[in-house]
Amino acid sequence: MSDLRVRFAPSPTGYLHIGGARTALFNFLLARKEQGTFILRIEDTDVERSTQESTDAILQAMDWLGLDYDEGPFYQSERFDLYKQKVQQLLDEGKAYKCYCTADELDAKREQAIQRGDKPQYDETCRNAPERDDDSPYVVRFKSSSQGVTAFNDLIKGTITFNNQELDDMIIQRTDGTPTYNFVVVVDDAEMGLTIVVRGDDHVNNTPRQIQIYKALGYAVPEFAHVPMILGSDKKRLSKRHGATSVMAYRDMGYLPEALVNYLVRLGWSHGDEEIFSMEELIEKFSLEHVGKSAGVFNPEKLLWLNEHYIKTGDPQRLGSLLKDYLNKDGIIVGDDIDVSTVVESLQDRSKTMVEMAEKAKFYFVDELTYDEKAKNKFITSEQKEIFELLLEKLQDCEFSHDGVEAAFNSVLQQTGLKFGKVGQPTRVALSGGTSAPGIFEVMLVLGRERCIDRLKAALAIIG
Ligand code: GLU
Repeated sequence: MSDLRVRFAPSPTGYLHIGGARTALFNFLLARKEQGTFILRIEDTDVERSTQESTDAILQAMDWLGLDYDEGPFYQSERFDLYKQKVQQLLDEGKAYKCYCTADELDAKREQAIQRGDKPQYDETCRNAPERDDDSPYVVRFKSSSQGVTAFNDLIKGTITFNNQELDDMIIQRTDGTPTYNFVVVVDDAEMGLTIVVRGDDHVNNTPRQIQIYKALGYAVPEFAHVPMILGSDKKRLSKRHGATSVMAYRDMGYLPEALVNYLVRLGWSHGDEEIFSMEELIEKFSLEHVGKSAGVFNPEKLLWLNEHYIKTGDPQRLGSLLKDYLNKDGIIVGDDIDVSTVVESLQDRSKTMVEMAEKAKFYFVDELTYDEKAKNKFITSEQKEIFELLLEKLQDCEFSHDGVEAAFNSVLQQTGLKFGKVGQPTRVALSGGTSAPGIFEVMLVLGRERCIDRLKAALAIIG
């Protein structure tokens, strides 16, 4: 174990966004590479917007991606006592103060500042006013220092310097007694012993405020690494307009988690010109040094390409059990008598997503075949009657192995004097409903004797 401690700290106000997933992934990889500790913290202080449903969705998505954590999940909603104590500490030390300004007063001052062309900032009315001893509602504000600068060395972006004049006395505790994000994030990151805070660069502007709070509370300041955003093809921040942004939506569309992980890591990090990385390779090779400074542009075609790669090279047993789930969703229950891995093997080279594979695999499992109309009109006609009858007869008692069905098939060829294609294509249509199924013997073996016979009988019934 090393001392490195990192965390992923999502707010449970929706599903796990792929941007968030990438932040989680970077933290996870860093922890695994350095044999440090990866912490999951659910930032649910915003009681109005946080839901259990979102928390569950986030946990499920992390699990699906294989991002397991060493500590947590910690819930900020269970740590309010700690935050209260820390607010009190700052009040006691004169580093924070109660502010009684009403929302109306603040709005009016804000308006005036905007009209003057100034940046609206809190004017510190209550900073030096005496504390009241009535029960007027108040917020607690942090006394920012407005002198000098706050600078930090971002591990991705380099040195970032803020003029402290920009920072007004921010609210750390609301009127209802709940603490605010910039305050609790510091308390938690410090109390949880974080050594590096890796997060989205939408938090760069919060960092100087947070650094001042670290110092006021007497905590050591961790290092920061702000990861650039993910953009859509129009270079605007990735949103639903660009397509699905939820991790689990990708599972539902038939993507494999390893494809998404591989895709996301390359969206901001590189290792030479390599494109394909297993999780083990990523753990070995990942480093913040090679995270780029500029935003990554989401490219759905590349993700699809990676998915196709992982389907092609995936273990048929594992893909088989996934395939069952996808078929299940379509109402197709796969019996235990069918070895799904052979179905996978017959379709691995022809499917870009698991949904596509399930679509192509359906014909194996349905009780009643749906025929492609054109194929049916062409290949299930009186012309094929003899072929189907002969094949039916042979399949009744042939050995049901690759050699066995091939021999049965060949004897039909011999008896009819027809070429392979003349028998193969109609048989494919009779057994699969269309002309594009995998190899005919493969199909027969996966279907098994019973189903082959039933389907040939059904074809003959159509011919009449
Ligand atoms: N909870 C914050 C968010 O979802 C992240 C806070 C952080 O990483 O500092 O944006």
